Amino acid sequence: MAGYIAKDKQINLLFSESEKMYRNLVESVRNGIYMADINDTLFFVNQSFVDILGYQSKDEILGKNIAKDLYRYPEMREEFLRQMQRNGFARDYEFEVIRRDGVILTLLATSNFIRNEKGEPIGVEGIVHDVSEKKVLEVSLQNEKVKLEEILGFDEHVTSIRNLDRLVDFVVEKATAILQADKCSLMLFDETVGELCIKSAKGLSDDVVVKTRIKLGDSIAGRVAKEGTEVLVKNIEYDSRFERSNCPSYQGRSFMCSPIKFNGRLIGVVNIADKNSGAEQFTEMDLKILSAIVRQAAAAIENAKLYRELEYLSVTDPLTNLWNYRCFINCVDDEIQRFNRFANVFSLLMIDIDDFKAYNDAHGHLEGDVFLKTLGHIFISQLRVIDKVCRYGGDEFVILLPNTDIQQASIVAEKLRLAVESHEFEHPMTISVGVVEYKKALSRFDLIMRVDRALYKAKNQGRNKVHLHE
Ligand code: GH3
Ligand code: MG
Repeated sequence: MAGYIAKDKQINLLFSESEKMYRNLVESVRNGIYMADINDTLFFVNQSFVDILGYQSKDEILGKNIAKDLYRYPEMREEFLRQMQRNGFARDYEFEVIRRDGVILTLLATSNFIRNEKGEPIGVEGIVHDVSEKKVLEVSLQNEKVKLEEILGFDEHVTSIRNLDRLVDFVVEKATAILQADKCSLMLFDETVGELCIKSAKGLSDDVVVKTRIKLGDSIAGRVAKEGTEVLVKNIEYDSRFERSNCPSYQGRSFMCSPIKFNGRLIGVVNIADKNSGAEQFTEMDLKILSAIVRQAAAAIENAKLYRELEYLSVTDPLTNLWNYRCFINCVDDEIQRFNRFANVFSLLMIDIDDFKAYNDAHGHLEGDVFLKTLGHIFISQLRVIDKVCRYGGDEFVILLPNTDIQQASIVAEKLRLAVESHEFEHPMTISVGVVEYKKALSRFDLIMRVDRALYKAKNQGRNKVHLHE
């Protein structure tokens, strides 16, 4: 009997020892442990749970309702309970809670039902740990990944855009997206006047875009352009280099400005302001990213400009700056298509200078060249913007008159003939003009034949004449 009593004591001792161990263990783990009744009211928490949620003591948190008092979105509890009911437990369940000081935490929980002897759930017990920092890192890594993809995508895409307007819009669009800014302007440097003008912008009023012109050395953009080094201002209020009054369009305190240079030559600047990602200031990393964007943009802008110049050269006559034969052919074909589709009538004038060979012989070819240029100016000054004045070759010009029938075209031809005749040249000169209206099913070749014949007749009638093709 005495032996049994000794054994019983021993067992009790063992139980109390293991309970002590269990309690020690529960209190010493860094994970939060909690128990709540079936209505979500906390009745047990360990010290780590108290610490994670930022409370002073267990007493302060015990009795609180998990869903109502701790959850950021109480309705999330329903999803948690659904999972519990479906599986009998919830593993690595992620949810957001509000720490006592208001900071939002992300916790990861593994929970089970507490059951009575009949197996019915009477509460929930769980172990949680704080994954907020990991979550923030995950989000910022994801952001960095998106940024990196954008930068790589930018690089690939920017070189394929040949149109300068579309290119600068693309650069502004991408720079604001990648650098999470509300405002951006891309200014191009006009060497002829020594000024920077806004070519594309985001977040600026149209008025500012149109009116802004900055001389080299003026304001921040002008200084960056002149000195050729980028600028990062973290807080304008404390930056002695700049005064707030110089940057009225910047609401934020932080901005960046980077020069666009190609082979050491200034092309323009990019301004970025008003960071919108929560962080108020641009960082050194942002400036590096902007520099990388601007470097790519510089090469692409240079290419687009060259391409535009090449395109211009390929359709203009170098002496008179009028459209050339190639452009004329394309325009006639376009007009024929427009006629076929919309029945848009159009006419053509062919002009030849009278006795130009004699003029050259008398005054020299250089004087002859000057005359050709002046003639181009006279034609343009007498015509509408939509009319296409082209040099056909030699001393011959063709003028395409959209939406013009033969009667109107003959008036225009007469106006041009008179303008030349009455122009106060040092040595009076005249022109002969052939006129034709496009007729259905006529080929380009036949159209030109007809106007050429009309011109021939004008010449035959004694020059300084207008002749209409019947
Ligand atoms: P017509 O009244 O019959 O037209 O007599 P024309 O002397 O003008 O004869 P034509 O049109 O056949 O001669 C064209 C002249 O234009 C020949 C050439 O000396 C001159 N010419 C052609 N291209 C140029 C040019 O680029 N510059 C100069 N200065 N002269 C040119
Ligand atoms: Mg001639």
